[in-house]
Amino acid sequence: MSENLLRVVPTVPDWAPDRDVAAAAAEIISAMCPGSGAVVACRYAEVTFIDPGVNFEAVSCPGCTALLKADWWRQCMDEAHATRFANLDTVTPCCSATVSLNDLEYHWPAAFAQFELRVHNPGRSWLSPAEAAQVSNVLGITIRQVLSHY
Ligand SMILES: [Zn+2]
Repeated sequence: MSENLLRVVPTVPDWAPDRDVAAAAAEIISAMCPGSGAVVACRYAEVTFIDPGVNFEAVSCPGCTALLKADWWRQCMDEAHATRFANLDTVTPCCSATVSLNDLEYHWPAAFAQFELRVHNPGRSWLSPAEAAQVSNVLGITIRQVLSHY
């Protein structure tokens, strides 16, 4: 069975909120997604790649917008994974920009996180900038969104 997930993650990969803060943010997101399934706060033992599932199309350079080869990216991921994603820094082959793998342009968006608020079958698309700002306020950190389809 296919599933859609709206995943809200902090912009800092190894950051996680206190439990009561996470619960408050989950409640707000739940109210923004009235037709959704469960909203779950997930904590991972390690920084994890929050992927968009079959929505994953390509990765490009934030410095010069060149498309990055899948082989190059996979090798970077392997090297970063060897550090348990503690070190996400890499240098892009196109323009030698030093960037975090977390800051590459993922199409659709992806992220690295140790914590996520996961909305099962949200019944809607991205949170609006105003809604995202509200969630950021509760969490106390700027957020990113990942829309996954499996
Ligand atoms: Zn570049």
